[in-house]
Amino acid sequence: MPIRAVLWDVDDTLFDYTGSDRAGALRHMKAEGLLDRHPSPEAALERWKQVMNEQFARFLSGELGFHEHRRERARSFLGTSLTDEEADLWFGRYVTLYEQAWTLFPDAVPALDALTPAYRHGALSNSSTANQDRKLHRLGIRRRFEVLLCADELGHAKPAPEAFHAGCEALGLPPSEVAYVGDRHDIDARAADEAGLSGVWIDRSGAPHPGPVAGVRRITGLAELPGLLAALP
Ligand SMILES: [Mg+2]
Repeated sequence: MPIRAVLWDVDDTLFDYTGSDRAGALRHMKAEGLLDRHPSPEAALERWKQVMNEQFARFLSGELGFHEHRRERARSFLGTSLTDEEADLWFGRYVTLYEQAWTLFPDAVPALDALTPAYRHGALSNSSTANQDRKLHRLGIRRRFEVLLCADELGHAKPAPEAFHAGCEALGLPPSEVAYVGDRHDIDARAADEAGLSGVWIDRSGAPHPGPVAGVRRITGLAELPGLLAALP
């Protein structure tokens, strides 16, 4: 069956999460006078990322809610106990700077334009619905997606097949008619394949050759997507 719709990952696929987070975190640490605590800005950013990964995993597992995971990021990064209110204020100051840095990848809108109206579009993210809805609105592309499904309201996070199947159901299409595009070869592309969709890995690393990632469709920029989808059996 031909592909009729694309389900999109959001962060680091359409939205430059890594770049926006990096810019926001650096400005936040500077503003809070925290950079001196680390050997270098890169080391500070590395610690920031490590704390984010640890606490986001607790959110994905259902151990923490989205706001609680943010509070825990503040406490863990500072290595101090903070009241909920203090943690919210501290993290909120980062969010302001992070949001000022929000940006889409330059190939995101051209790819959506090139794929419309030949394909329908939906978004499936492991983040929170309120967060991604607001983000896509702010970035001017929310209306491009007929559906937006996120782990918090779904109760399933990628790589669980239930997450992908919920996306297909929301579009009213069988998995065989839906492609999933994401920046992770494991929880996006391969997991989508395993759920019966056509998974596509957007590898923005710029590596000339794919690494040892067998059986995963790989593109290095979204401009390659229309050709790849048209060539799918
Ligand atoms: Mg992603």
